[in-house]
Amino acid sequence: MGLVNTIDLFRHAEKHSYALGAFNVVSLEFLNGILDAAEAVKSPVILNIAEVHFDYVDIEQIYPAIKYMADKACVPVVLNLDHGMSIETVVRALRCGFSAVMYDASKKPLEQNIEETRLVVKMAHSVGVSVEAELGRVGGAEGGAHAAKARCEFFTDPDEAERYVAETGIDALAVSVGNVHGFYDGEPELDFELIAELKRRAGIPLVLHGGSGISDDDFRKAVSLGMRKINFFTEMSKIATDRVRETLERSEHCFIQDLLKEARLVIKEVVMDRMRVFGSAGVCSQAGNICPTGGSCATCSSCSTPERPGNTRLPETTGQGISDSQLSDIVSEVVKNILNQNNS
Ligand SMILES: [Zn+2]
Repeated sequence: MGLVNTIDLFRHAEKHSYALGAFNVVSLEFLNGILDAAEAVKSPVILNIAEVHFDYVDIEQIYPAIKYMADKACVPVVLNLDHGMSIETVVRALRCGFSAVMYDASKKPLEQNIEETRLVVKMAHSVGVSVEAELGRVGGAEGGAHAAKARCEFFTDPDEAERYVAETGIDALAVSVGNVHGFYDGEPELDFELIAELKRRAGIPLVLHGGSGISDDDFRKAVSLGMRKINFFTEMSKIATDRVRETLERSEHCFIQDLLKEARLVIKEVVMDRMRVFGSAGVCSQAGNICPTGGSCATCSSCSTPERPGNTRLPETTGQGISDSQLSDIVSEVVKNILNQNNS
């Protein structure tokens, strides 16, 4: 099907009340395990690559593999920059061919967060790439070894959320509602009233970061209240690590390729299970949602059934990287904006 942005997928998820799972890719085993799962349960999927993982994965190196796999896949695939921390990283992801970006200026003052995010939206939307941004602060560290507690002083404020969405033009809002990245110190306690209020005020899909450790029931409740994307990584990585350790302990004659294969298999199991809980499993094969062939790759790209998620493909330029002239237009626009701000 090729890479798609999140806009159609979120529209479909809103209508049918489910959440898209976003799973981090740090190696080819993760990429293959996650896509194996999505195809097995017929679910759209978001592949996250986080800036904090750039030490493990080179985006320019892995992009051709992701594009190749997405083109072959019989389900919609989004390639999302997770927690882009600078405008430079966002431009790099756009140049590379990502179909969605998450820009995180949540640690900066509100006015600066709005200003920078608005700029990212302008750049990304100009080439058909969707944008998620964060308001409030989700604590902990992605894949971090230390457990963290949510702090209510960092929870997303509904008044600010309403203004933030209106002034930035983002497509999805990452919120702080009792969630933390990595493992939780104690039982996670999501503030469901706040989720409902944020959904009402923001009026766009909400995103839950820090999915590891939240119970299935709490996930389902959060989804019923408007969560449309759930980031899930730490627990998946931990389960894969445990499986590799068990395999090593069981067999003396075990090679690295056997361990990598085990990792891929267990990642597939974990992701399939999460997709069932998030409600996205099977949405690509529901009657009326998909082309009559059941979503075989060759026909998907020409299918015009409006109900099926991910029908709108990105402009050709995005899926294959932005051309040099487009990039130079974007960069000169950004520079002009920054100069204007400094002068005013
Ligand atoms: Zn996050």
